[in-house]
Amino acid sequence: DVKGREAILRVHAKNKPLSKEVDLATLAKMTPGFIGADLENVLNEAAILAARRSRKDIGMNEVEEAIKRVIAGPEKKSRVVTEKDKRCTAYHEVGHAILAKVLPNCDPVHEVSIVPRGMAAGYTLTLPDNDDRHMFKSKMLDEICMLLGGRVAEKLVLGDVSTGASNDIQRATELAKSMVVTYGMSEEIGPIYLGGDQEVFLGRDFGHTRDFSEQLGAKIDKEIHKILSDAFTKAENIIQENMDKMHLIADVLTERESITGEEFQNLFETGSLTGRVVMDPKEESLELEAEEQQHQSAEEAEAEGNAADKPEEQEEPK
Ligand code: ZN
Repeated sequence: DVKGREAILRVHAKNKPLSKEVDLATLAKMTPGFIGADLENVLNEAAILAARRSRKDIGMNEVEEAIKRVIAGPEKKSRVVTEKDKRCTAYHEVGHAILAKVLPNCDPVHEVSIVPRGMAAGYTLTLPDNDDRHMFKSKMLDEICMLLGGRVAEKLVLGDVSTGASNDIQRATELAKSMVVTYGMSEEIGPIYLGGDQEVFLGRDFGHTRDFSEQLGAKIDKEIHKILSDAFTKAENIIQENMDKMHLIADVLTERESITGEEFQNLFETGSLTGRVVMDPKEESLELEAEEQQHQSAEEAEAEGNAADKPEEQEEPK
């Protein structure tokens, strides 16, 4: 858990020149699911990066990059990416990110990138903001929906689908399987343990003995299929509802190649990378005054029967 990871990090950080900005408690929160060896790797990679960048100490930049390296492999900036691929990957990743944002049980978006890394053409990194031990059914369903978001975006925007979603589809299918056969979460089949997900399906593939009937087997298949197709439909609806945002964010992502979670959030909510600038009260009241004046002059213009400079959206519907 998070406390355990922090303790492990402390041990491995002992002989490393960490900059003051690196907080091990934060780092522990950013590395859910990491085992001891992964954490050791993160700090070693960060040290190598810092040395390569001729830094005297290890900064947060190096640590963040090291985490991504451990999760997905090093960035491959030299890999040639065609414009068509880039556009496809941008929509694919924004599809994931929008679902992670809209669905209530997904972890917050930390970064969206179309810079190839390891085997992936791009990635959307979500990180939990808590250390919940249990995986709830509601979260598993949202997770499946989010995983399918890349494929859904390709289908809706490009009218075609790519092989880029194969890993997502595999993960979504595995999650759906484990919900039905391992965790007894299917209402149709009930709280019955039918072996680990792999056991059941390997058993069937190789004709080994299994402890459920042919009939139940068919029911299991149907349930898994239903979870996946319901999630797909839900993902389609959400992306369809947010299509304007989808185009806007995919455009920015294609140009910048990577955006932070905060930038994504701003783009989604305000349409700008920086979000709304916080104004001090003085400026705000000045703006209010200006708005009032505008409003008054518009009223005056209307009174005079002069509607020529009225903004279009204020026109009465005909
Ligand atoms: Zn994907």
